[in-house]
Amino acid sequence: MTLRLDKSKVTGVVIVCDECPHWSAFRFDVEEGWVCAVDHEQRVHPGQHQAKRAAHAYAATQGVRPI
Ligand SMILES: [Zn+2]
Repeated sequence: MTLRLDKSKVTGVVIVCDECPHWSAFRFDVEEGWVCAVDHEQRVHPGQHQAKRAAHAYAATQGVRPI
């Protein structure tokens, strides 16, 4: 399972999951996008941590508190 953020949108990011082609979400910024991705991961793919790790890595690059 891999969650990723499509940041090509000018106005925000689209969150997609390669195991859930029917699911996607939109948020206005990357941090909120990772919050959404982690929420999807915890609800739909319990026991997996790819989005959580990616969110932590993103937080580290931004110098903010991990999600
Ligand atoms: Zn999924």
